[in-house]
Amino acid sequence: MKRSILTAILLASVMGVGSAQDVKREITQVTDDVYRFQNRFHVNMFVLTGDGVVVTDPINDDAAAWLRTEIGTLTGQPITDLIYSHSHGDHASGGEGYGEIANIVAQQNAPAVIDGVKPTIRFSDRMSFTRGDKTFELTYLGPGHGNDLIAIVVRPDNVAFVVDAVSSKRLFYRDFPGANLDQWIEQVRKIDSLEFEVMIGGHGPVGVKSDVGAGIAYLEELRAEVLKGLKAGKSVDELKQSVTMEKYKDWAAYDNWRELNVQGMARYLSESGAVQ
Ligand SMILES: [Zn+2]
Repeated sequence: MKRSILTAILLASVMGVGSAQDVKREITQVTDDVYRFQNRFHVNMFVLTGDGVVVTDPINDDAAAWLRTEIGTLTGQPITDLIYSHSHGDHASGGEGYGEIANIVAQQNAPAVIDGVKPTIRFSDRMSFTRGDKTFELTYLGPGHGNDLIAIVVRPDNVAFVVDAVSSKRLFYRDFPGANLDQWIEQVRKIDSLEFEVMIGGHGPVGVKSDVGAGIAYLEELRAEVLKGLKAGKSVDELKQSVTMEKYKDWAAYDNWRELNVQGMARYLSESGAVQ
């Protein structure tokens, strides 16, 4: 099953959509039946089941319409199911671009209508369904990054699709806007409790299961270092200098987001009362 992981670039395409900037779009085969689609900085997963194709986050209308055409050309099979990772607009917009889909799955807390698309199936904690020869295991991750974020694991491929809560060897997005970071860490622990081998992230490259544990270690170290500094009376600006997270200097976005990660953690710890 691992034979084809990352070995086949099935199709790579760069195409303009009439805007000033070209949109980078790329489809990569991850296992025999599991594919990764990248649209600029956002990624989704789609799966050939032998009885139709299961897609995830549409990203936006143009991306979904483009992917729908590519899937038709590639497989000649219809899209049977759409699963939303969560309802944030940068991943969940544009579902209508996929066309009519029979089964649309979202977590219970997602809005009634997601950018014009009404989910037909909702679940609270866990659900699984089988399509063709694939089983999809969906797990609600609890509040933290948003309040309707789920992880999707595909069997028997043992591939997980994980969005925003953790990425492979990449710092966390900017300053964790508005998030409760202890809840966020719980979300990542929940992902770590799932069984899978390969992780397709909503951002960044394909990773492996151990990348999740590394993400937890990063968050815990960041939390401990920032808390220690705040308790010692240091300012946020001082912490941006002193909390270097040196072990992670090879991770993506280290130069751009380390200070923002420190700032976001300091904001959370101060507001949560952890500092006193
Ligand atoms: Zn999000």
